[in-house]
Amino acid sequence: MLRLRSVHSYYSNAHVLKGISLHVRPGELIALIGANGAGKTTTLKTISGLVKARRGEVGFRGADIAGLAPNKIVRQGLSHVPEGRQIFAKMTVWANLELGGYLLRDREDVVQVAFNYGLFTGAFGLHYGAEQIGASVVPSSVGNTRRQVRILKDYRTTTLVCTPSYALRIAEVIKQMGVDPKILALKQGLFGGEPWGEEVRQAIEERLYIKAYDNYGLSEVMGPGVAGECPNRAGMHVAEDHFITEIIDPDTGEVLQNGTTGELVLTTVTKEAFPVIRFRTGDLASLDDSPCPCGRTLARISRISGRCDDIIIVKGVNIYPGAVGPILEAVTGVAPVYQLVVGLENDQDFLGIRIEVSEAMFFDKMERQRAMVDRLRKKVRDTLGITPRIWLVEAGSIRQDEETAPMVVDRRGGPEAS
Ligand SMILES: [Zn+2]
Repeated sequence: MLRLRSVHSYYSNAHVLKGISLHVRPGELIALIGANGAGKTTTLKTISGLVKARRGEVGFRGADIAGLAPNKIVRQGLSHVPEGRQIFAKMTVWANLELGGYLLRDREDVVQVAFNYGLFTGAFGLHYGAEQIGASVVPSSVGNTRRQVRILKDYRTTTLVCTPSYALRIAEVIKQMGVDPKILALKQGLFGGEPWGEEVRQAIEERLYIKAYDNYGLSEVMGPGVAGECPNRAGMHVAEDHFITEIIDPDTGEVLQNGTTGELVLTTVTKEAFPVIRFRTGDLASLDDSPCPCGRTLARISRISGRCDDIIIVKGVNIYPGAVGPILEAVTGVAPVYQLVVGLENDQDFLGIRIEVSEAMFFDKMERQRAMVDRLRKKVRDTLGITPRIWLVEAGSIRQDEETAPMVVDRRGGPEAS
């Protein structure tokens, strides 16, 4: 893969490398060991083109690269991390090398981040990540979809970052505005923040003419960047130099074999100030450490197939169904019998709450009932940050048998949330 034959290099007149030869084969790790001044750094600089070889050959993947400018050598896929991780000091040498392989191509990317720039880690996480690889970032945030489409056109956005349901909404508005998605520069999208399945992926790809990638992260660990799909899109490679991944049986805590679905548990290796040890994510996934055709050796987690607690995610907001009761009770004054209904309308998530009307809530006047519904809606919005639809239903119409009437009905077609 990399071969040096009798290489001689100089710093002006000082003859530093005197006939170095070495051969690195694919998959091999080679260490150069020597005293200070032996020429280790000069050898690396000669390979990278930072120092010119005056004699000898430097071959990479069969091509002679001696004499090429350093940027052309990087373009061949050969990257070099200086001593002390001087490029991205906070990242490991391995992560620096991986980035080195992408730098030039991704520098041309324009990344439009249509996540909410609030307390949600997705927007800033992917924003700074895109900046790190040298891409231009358009922080369009969420909402005003017609403006999102104009930005897609005017800024020649190549990469869209948002929730999968918002990507479908953008596709819809593109159609309404009479824009042909084929004229856009859009090549790919990084989607997350809510559960989504292969059907949604296919719909996004067909409507926007892009490749849709899944990525995984959680606020408790660092936000996005824990794992992400490669072009093969058969699981998400975990950044294993930063995280140790385990899959456990959520009931017994027993560590499960690769390929078995269980609760994903993460331990941070490099995180400072707020490290977590064996953090139980509550997300269900399986682990695969078989080789990936893309060449990355990092293990992959499957796409998240659901939660092992009863949390549901609506518009990127995590909701514990049991926590909705006290919010409703604060308005109604009694513990209500209720059921959450999650669905899709115009490709957007919505949250509905069915509430049984009890005697204490029974009003003979329609307007008092309407006022109650308004207060409930406002209370839920102020507490959870999401405006629900409220339906008052007859007492006894929501069956409380847990087996047959779950507190949550999820009609989105993705992974069942309960
Ligand atoms: Zn891969």
